[in-house]
Amino acid sequence: RTLESIVEVFDSPGKGRGLRATKEVWAGDVLFADPCFAAVVFDSLVAHVCHSCFRRQAKLQRCGQCRFAQYCDRTCQRAGWVEHKQECAAIKSYGKAPNENIRLAARIMWRLNKEGGVVSDMQLTTLDDLEDHLSDMPEMDLKELKVDVHNFLDFWPRTGKQHTVESISHIFGVINCNGFMVSDQKGLQAVGVGLFPNLCLVNHDCWPNCTVILNNGNHSTINTMYHTQKRIELRALGKISAGEELTVSYVDYLNLSEDRKQMLKQQYFFDCTCEHCTKKTKDDLKMAGAVVDGVPEEKVKEVTEYSVEMLKKMENARLEANYNEVVKICRECVEKQENVLADTHIYQLKMWSTLGEVLSYLQFFEEAATYARKMVDGYVKLYHPNNAQLGMTMMRAGVTHWQAGHIEVGHGMICKAYAVLMVTHGSTHPITKDLEAMRNQTEMELRMFKQNEYVYHSMREAALKNQPMKMMAEPVEEGVKGLFRKK
Ligand SMILES: [Zn+2]
Ligand SMILES: [Zn+2]
Ligand SMILES: [Zn+2]
Repeated sequence: RTLESIVEVFDSPGKGRGLRATKEVWAGDVLFADPCFAAVVFDSLVAHVCHSCFRRQAKLQRCGQCRFAQYCDRTCQRAGWVEHKQECAAIKSYGKAPNENIRLAARIMWRLNKEGGVVSDMQLTTLDDLEDHLSDMPEMDLKELKVDVHNFLDFWPRTGKQHTVESISHIFGVINCNGFMVSDQKGLQAVGVGLFPNLCLVNHDCWPNCTVILNNGNHSTINTMYHTQKRIELRALGKISAGEELTVSYVDYLNLSEDRKQMLKQQYFFDCTCEHCTKKTKDDLKMAGAVVDGVPEEKVKEVTEYSVEMLKKMENARLEANYNEVVKICRECVEKQENVLADTHIYQLKMWSTLGEVLSYLQFFEEAATYARKMVDGYVKLYHPNNAQLGMTMMRAGVTHWQAGHIEVGHGMICKAYAVLMVTHGSTHPITKDLEAMRNQTEMELRMFKQNEYVYHSMREAALKNQPMKMMAEPVEEGVKGLFRKK
């Protein structure tokens, strides 16, 4: 099976099945679009996110039958009915909704029963053929999985097709290692978990040649007919030759190679042998001391250890949404790090990133911009030039500079972000569209600024009061960093 003969399944040495390109592709090319097999909203967000379009909404309407599923409106409810119909009846007779894993497994089984293991021409594998890694799972996790299987069988309707414990366990195993984080419309927050069969075939590399992006489809049109389905796209980050294996990264590259290897082993059950792990590429930069005379290695080590403690403190304050405390902790830490740690040291970058984000939320734009800029400079030295995280960071930094009144730097960053997102997200993604609007706005403002600075500043102040760019409304609680959902 091939997808328009751009990708094919092959046996990747030492990795099992994998995907490779059958012809040369370039940055931003879509290797495949994989429709969602099934997806559910996280337990913690069932009352805040539409169960059909996965948009975060202040007000949702409940399904009158089960009182569990919630939707933006009738249009979304109708669009979600095919997926919800059997679930609705099962929840009613079970008396409550089971957890997200069980809900996802049930949706998968209903779909399998109805349509079989292959539901589209584009699907390269059956669910049966996917690895479940049950034999690799630690005792504790396996126990948890067995409880889920047991509850699943209780939840599953007596009148429906019955399944064996083995086949249900397989599905739970597949969900455990391949459950994909489904984000909200803008891709800023993880709101659910879904299964995309083709994606399960793409192997990992810490320095990958592809990226995965979720596109929730265009739900802004009134007519449901035009609502395209949730899908992910596998997009090339650069030139890929025919025959080359396609890879994505399951973990954030900003971690040290040792830590990445550990995460991959623990969560995905393999030893990463990628070039960056083998050569420990950029590990030195990520832990480096500042290029300042007289900073002894001991001092770098001391401040690094101190930073670990402060990061923990900061994370706690952040979870409590105590933003003033977050700022206090970060400022204290940043002061100690200055001139001791390199501008690529990951603990310093983490502090700058949080400080920039929170200060911007608290509307200290000038100071926020300073840290946002330092962060971008550090990221550029570490990330692949077309890394999606890098693009998003540039975008945020651009907005912060705009908010601080640095229109030239702000516009420049927004343009750079736009170039990255055109590769990683594509032109139709909602966030690229937002960014395009911002680019046009800052371009216009920059022209005005160059003509008459005074007029520009008074106009900008009025604009800030009336309609601040909304995307930075609040620091995101659960960002989308990892590819697959992990506890
Ligand atoms: Zn909706
Ligand atoms: Zn219902
Ligand atoms: Zn690696």
